[in-house]
Amino acid sequence: MPDAASLKSRAAAAVTDHRAEILELSHRIHANPEPAFEERLAAGWVAEALGRHGYAVELGVGSLPTAVRGRLAGGLGADGPRIGVLAEYDALPGLGHGCGHNTMAASGVGAAIALAAVRDAFAGEIVFLGTPAEERGSGKGIMIREGAFDGLDAALLYHPCDRSHVDGDALASEDVEVVFTGLQAHASSDPWKGRNALDAMIALFVSVGLWRQQLPPHARVHGIIQEGGTAANIIPDRTRAWFMIRSADQAHYAVMRERFRALAEAAAMAADCGVEVIFSGGSMTMNTNPTLAALWVANATAHGVVEQGPDPFAGSTDMGNVSWVVPTIHPDLAIADEPTPGHSTAFRDAAASPKGDETTLLAATLVAETAIDLLADPALVARAWAELRRQR
Ligand SMILES: [Zn+2]
Ligand SMILES: [Zn+2]
Repeated sequence: MPDAASLKSRAAAAVTDHRAEILELSHRIHANPEPAFEERLAAGWVAEALGRHGYAVELGVGSLPTAVRGRLAGGLGADGPRIGVLAEYDALPGLGHGCGHNTMAASGVGAAIALAAVRDAFAGEIVFLGTPAEERGSGKGIMIREGAFDGLDAALLYHPCDRSHVDGDALASEDVEVVFTGLQAHASSDPWKGRNALDAMIALFVSVGLWRQQLPPHARVHGIIQEGGTAANIIPDRTRAWFMIRSADQAHYAVMRERFRALAEAAAMAADCGVEVIFSGGSMTMNTNPTLAALWVANATAHGVVEQGPDPFAGSTDMGNVSWVVPTIHPDLAIADEPTPGHSTAFRDAAASPKGDETTLLAATLVAETAIDLLADPALVARAWAELRRQR
């Protein structure tokens, strides 16, 4: 196959040639935000775009109707590295694309377009995976269990940020639904006949607040009340909260999980209520692959990106789950020049700004270039796998 450098410049040129198509997709998804597991429009548009560029496309993968898979074999044969180009497209309830996943969908498609443009020159396969439900539910965890990542040699996905860096310390996390059940009664004429499910909820929030002082700095617990009763003059018989618990240490996370359950049970006991504690989703810590990271940094540096080092504080991502089954990178690129917190309206606006657009195109180019490095030199794939085996 031709040298990697000439393929990379062809790939970068393909991103530039398809600039309007890539950015139109980003803005269309941004204007039509859909939460986890409901990304029907976005998944459909992503599938359509891949189909236009020669990919064999499945809309709906395994049990997830909003997952997308696109396959494209190299012109020199399918025998060779099988590179996973990933995308996300879910939005946040009440906020829209405050995590900028529209830029991830568009850049993933952009990378797929760029790799299709150099198809004649490589052996191997591009496997595009559109992965639903990152913000809640861990769609990639489901796809891993159902085999969608089997046979991949690498998984590449960028995330928008207000800084640019290749590595991140994503926290292990889960969603937790807590439901307290009590007994209704008139809140004035005979409150002693009720059992107050809101008291149990308040006791849980107070316990969690006290617990935080004993948690290490890398642990997080936070939640919202989704049902808190229906009227001030009714003793609430049902309350419901959505918590997340997180830790940078997978073993410590398991301890937190049981402690949280004990706090919920204690709160129920204090208010003489019943309780259900339902864990779901689940993200693992991030295991950035050193070989893939070095390739990314070299490509990013060549495009003038300055590596700023990992964020001091982290969220969670189901790319963590992927990182323990396939050599993975999940680098951040800045979509804002100013410090801009994620999951905010300011970040949402940045995800459709001129800077956000330039970053979307850059991410498409860098993912394609990193894929080309691996396709051009399968020894790098072998090295990445050796590292992953050592890390597990
Ligand atoms: Zn995100
Ligand atoms: Zn997010």
